[in-house]
Amino acid sequence: MTQRVYLDWNATAPLRPEARDAVVATFEVCGNPSSVHGEGRRAHRILQDARIVVAASLGAEPDTVVFTSGATEANVLALTPGLHRTGTPPVERLIVSAIEHSSVLSGGRFAKPRVEIAPVDRSGIVDLAQLDRLLADQPPALVSIMLANNETGAIQPIRDVAELVRARNGVLHVDAVPAFGKIDINFKGLQADLLSISAHKIGGPKGVGALLVAEDLRGLEPALTGGGQEKGRRAGTENLPGIAGFGAAAKVAATNRERFAGHSDALRRRLEAGLKQIVASTIIFSKDVPRLANTTLFTAPGLQAETAVIGFDLEGIAVSSGSACSSGKVQPSHVLEAMQVDAALARGGIRISFGWETTENDIDRALEAWRKLAGTLVKKNDETVLERF
Ligand code: PMP
Repeated sequence: MTQRVYLDWNATAPLRPEARDAVVATFEVCGNPSSVHGEGRRAHRILQDARIVVAASLGAEPDTVVFTSGATEANVLALTPGLHRTGTPPVERLIVSAIEHSSVLSGGRFAKPRVEIAPVDRSGIVDLAQLDRLLADQPPALVSIMLANNETGAIQPIRDVAELVRARNGVLHVDAVPAFGKIDINFKGLQADLLSISAHKIGGPKGVGALLVAEDLRGLEPALTGGGQEKGRRAGTENLPGIAGFGAAAKVAATNRERFAGHSDALRRRLEAGLKQIVASTIIFSKDVPRLANTTLFTAPGLQAETAVIGFDLEGIAVSSGSACSSGKVQPSHVLEAMQVDAALARGGIRISFGWETTENDIDRALEAWRKLAGTLVKKNDETVLERF
């Protein structure tokens, strides 16, 4: 049987061997990191080592890292009414971009009427003028914008966003999940107040993540209350094996990041040239703006994403229709909708995302499968949909 080809790395990445070793080794450690005895101190050392590595991979101080059960929890923790920097008034409303992950779009701990949506342009980049208009209203707002989008890969102008937010006394949260390990991220340089990451997207285990909290940020109420773990910011005994695996993955990801970016760039060029060669009318979303090198979201006239994903799967290729979280429901991606893509075209969005283990041969196998499928799935000579796009 031929090997399957996994091209859905933005949904989750395979566990790195270094992360697996760290997880397994930590299962043997009995102490509770909050205990004062030798066993506890040993567990605490593992926790702190992981904290140092994760922080360093983002140019941050270890104390800024709050370990969580993943980025969903990190996002909910971040989206707290009342946050403020020293000397600025507490935020009372939340502005999120229209292309955020569902854990941000759902508003965290803000009441629904207090959540406002900032639009994006047709390339999937947040509209800074509109954002500034929303920010100009009172009271001050918490703004949550992702660093790169998980469906299109489009990289957002976060430094410009940070300037606007600061000028209006707001607070900025950045969901950095898809960008982490793929582009250089410096927490201080970004001027973000809060930043979420997840271990399983960089080759760590699932069910662990972190929220970075700037030192001068005030008013962060824990979402999980109880013990004083994580400096009172997240109660509950830490998932030590998961966190040790996260640390190990973060270390390898940081060491290999530049090589990975170059490798991805070459693979994506090959992929996108191949897609265009097979179906000349292929549309690649966000192709004219800076994008993560490992992500291609494409469609073609008449394509139904759900059918295409099953077709690829039967050919042994794992791809997705938009984001994994929304692909359980048959509805067009909210990201493409926000980009004002025609509904007929948006229903056909296929995401191919790859990682450090992906080879040229994997890309060629995906293209081979697509050549077979496109013959029946793509409408020929139908330029009407394209005109409407
Ligand atoms: N934000 C983004 C942009 C994501 O892609 C994901 C994962 N689908 C999350 C948040 C949630 O991360 P986790 O799976 O760790 O809860």
